[in-house]
Amino acid sequence: MIEIKDLSFGYTNDLALKNVNIKISDSKWTSIIGHNGSGKSTLAKLLVGILNPTSGEIIVDGIQMNEKTINDIRKKIGIVFQNPDNQFVGVTVLSDIAFGLENRCYSKEEMDKLVLSSAKKVGLENYLDREPHTLSGGEKQRVAIAGILALDLKYIIFDEATSMLDPKGVSDVKKIIKELNDSGHTIITITHDLDFALYSDNVVVLKNGEVIADGRPEEIYQNEKLLLSSNLMVPFNMKLLNKVKGDKELNKNGKLVNLLCQLNSTK
Ligand code: ADP
Ligand code: MG
Repeated sequence: MIEIKDLSFGYTNDLALKNVNIKISDSKWTSIIGHNGSGKSTLAKLLVGILNPTSGEIIVDGIQMNEKTINDIRKKIGIVFQNPDNQFVGVTVLSDIAFGLENRCYSKEEMDKLVLSSAKKVGLENYLDREPHTLSGGEKQRVAIAGILALDLKYIIFDEATSMLDPKGVSDVKKIIKELNDSGHTIITITHDLDFALYSDNVVVLKNGEVIADGRPEEIYQNEKLLLSSNLMVPFNMKLLNKVKGDKELNKNGKLVNLLCQLNSTK
């Protein structure tokens, strides 16, 4: 479990996160949604120890995060950033994907095998000799995802990790995220895509650095006013379901609601 307790953080005197409390259960998929500047990426950076809290605490898998524990925590939690340019360390795609594995005492053979299978999952098996800076934004995003897949971490954060991908790329990554979650990884996705967030177990809504809602997506999406006040649009199918539920005439025998619930059915 990840516990975020009374967490506040400010880049300046203005706090970007204010008194945030969130519990993220193991093996679950949590989506963090919110308008631009609501503090989502700041929260993600705090969770991987790139930023240090102004106040409050973060406990990952029972370990309280501090300078002494951060290296242990980084063996459990990793992140794919919104902007992949910030995270290249290798000269080639291969060395970049392999980077995180280097301290892990794998033989060269094991390492090559892991790198290749991670690269295959994101369709990069023919790119291993390329220099990362020669890749397109979407290809870079795939490299970053492959690097995280290779590490087989318990907790994985995707911060708008599909922002530069084309529709096929987005649906590939969504599939990978679902598979990771199905195989027991705890997933945190940061997204504007409320259709996508509907698949998660839990949704946390951030607004101006504060948590304004935390619950199952079906519950959160019923509160259209709250989402609109955060510049978030309820997906059309959920809007329709909400309308039909509230209209006795439309929902005379419950059939329509049942049908819409089926169509919306998440997992
Ligand atoms: P989100 O990811 O939800 O769009 P961020 O966490 O990136 O939001 O930003 C939250 C707030 O912190 C914004 O007001 C943003 O301008 C500010 N901020 C982000 N990064 C920095 C920084 N490096 N220095 C100063 N302010 C920052
Ligand atoms: Mg962001």
